[in-house]
Amino acid sequence: MKAMVLEKPGQPLVEKQFPIPEPEGKQLLIEVEACAVCRTDLHVVDGELPEPSLPVIPGHEIIGMVRRTGPDTETIREGDRVGVPWLGWTCGECRFCRSGRENLCDRARFTGYTLPGGFAEFTIADERFSIPLENDSPAAEIAPFLCAGLIGYRCLRKTGDARKLGLYGFGAAAHIVIQIARHEGREVYAFTRPGDHSAQEFARSMGAVWAGDSDGLPPEELDAAIIFAPVGELVPYALRAVAKGGIVVCGGIHMSDIPSFPYEILWGERRIESVANLTRQDGIDFMEIAPKIPIRTKIEPFVLDQANQALNRLRSGQIEGAAVLIIR
Ligand SMILES: [Zn+2]
Ligand SMILES: [Zn+2]
Repeated sequence: MKAMVLEKPGQPLVEKQFPIPEPEGKQLLIEVEACAVCRTDLHVVDGELPEPSLPVIPGHEIIGMVRRTGPDTETIREGDRVGVPWLGWTCGECRFCRSGRENLCDRARFTGYTLPGGFAEFTIADERFSIPLENDSPAAEIAPFLCAGLIGYRCLRKTGDARKLGLYGFGAAAHIVIQIARHEGREVYAFTRPGDHSAQEFARSMGAVWAGDSDGLPPEELDAAIIFAPVGELVPYALRAVAKGGIVVCGGIHMSDIPSFPYEILWGERRIESVANLTRQDGIDFMEIAPKIPIRTKIEPFVLDQANQALNRLRSGQIEGAAVLIIR
């Protein structure tokens, strides 16, 4: 099987051939149909996250068909279609796992970071962390659900019933979240890199009531904001944009340092919160709601060999919607 492999952070992925792995225990052997490309893959490749299991195959938004099952699997069978997200394994024993917060597990392992990912023709995943899919949509269109969708959804839930919602960074996650937000009757205000008129136009085409530069203020006070861009400077901007009692949710796994800011913009019971990873329940909830809306994704397709090209375009902000590797 062919795979794109990260040998050393800061260097491009290299194409390698491997024998097809044999699933053990509760593992599944999955033939990858498509794998979306997430900003977290960029953080892994660029060495911004600590201690990846090198060499590693990136990719954690996998749609594929189960081709073989390990001897201890119980629910998923050969021929089933599954999605494989970022959260690949948890211990089940620590205080976080035991209190419904497995996303915070001390010993969690992550697909495409500390476990093999989906930039490959085949991958191995744990049955207990794979999401069975009823959905028969084209793989490329639903692959972005597995992280952009799930993490975006978890961020949105943290905003409670906020009616006026700001989204900072209008990429893969935001273009999915806006569809849920509008379905729930919220107004979305989209913030992009200053001067990125094509991203602002894209946001308006997706139903944003307003789109503008991230270093400015919206025309109205917001009830909540979600920051998807990995830019710490946005935190004070977002705090200034939300009304008293509002929340600013940081949705990324990595962010540049947040500059100091006057207490005054946090005062008034404004809150800052982060979203870390996802739980299996988020996956179940999101997959249930997605076809009801129904959520549509805008994708830019690549073949497996073009993984580096996809990462480079994402890094420079050129992707409209989500980049997806179509593998089969
Ligand atoms: Zn745990
Ligand atoms: Zn991701």
